[in-house]
Amino acid sequence: MTTLTREERVKLYKSRAWQVTRKLVLERDNYECQECKRNGRVFTNQHKPDKHKRLDVDHIKSLEHHPELAFDMDNLETLCVKCHNKKENRFHPNQSKKKKWHDEFW
Ligand SMILES: [Zn+2]
Repeated sequence: MTTLTREERVKLYKSRAWQVTRKLVLERDNYECQECKRNGRVFTNQHKPDKHKRLDVDHIKSLEHHPELAFDMDNLETLCVKCHNKKENRFHPNQSKKKKWHDEFW
């Protein structure tokens, strides 16, 4: 199975193709966190939709293990930072999550 190194992932996140894809996903999802939506929450004061800071585009199947899905819209969804961190924590319960995530992001 192909995996991406950290460098490769950083490179991808900086690529023009990713910027374009990311924007398409945000627009498709109306700049709303899909996880909050699934939980019946909407964007309120709690989730100020600051389009540039508070929303991430998440790879449902991780980029690391599914690089072939990097630009697959079906594998991408909008998450707020809060839900995104929660998801990361769930998948890596034993690692110093916050640090790790910020370390990897962008
Ligand atoms: Zn959320």
